[in-house]
Amino acid sequence: MAQPRNTVQKQVIYDVLVQRGDHPTAEEVYADVHARHATISKGTVYRVLNQMAEQRSILRIPIPNGADRFDHTIRPHHHFGCIRCGRIYDMPAQTAEGIQITYPVFAGGKITGYSILFEGICEGCGE
Ligand SMILES: [Zn+2]
Ligand SMILES: [Zn+2]
Repeated sequence: MAQPRNTVQKQVIYDVLVQRGDHPTAEEVYADVHARHATISKGTVYRVLNQMAEQRSILRIPIPNGADRFDHTIRPHHHFGCIRCGRIYDMPAQTAEGIQITYPVFAGGKITGYSILFEGICEGCGE
């Protein structure tokens, strides 16, 4: 009867993502989950996050030189990462409409998606 338990864990983890809404790392998700349900282990949080990302019920945002972030918003949108404070902001896909993605040509593989992370300095950090 592993399924119902897994469902509860998924729900708790998903709720944390929705309530935070700030693209947390797995570590940050774990800290919040742990505060509510001390029985859910770090391994479980990481496993469930990976699982949900693979199933596309959440988004994984790979950050160069940093921990992956997770996002409950799965409608198409881009991200902006502040190089000062490290915050990740949502950008409506419309903002980047003029950008043309050049898909790499390669044989024997299949592209299943892409991730765009704009970098810069956010309003809160000045400039
Ligand atoms: Zn900033
Ligand atoms: Zn997002």
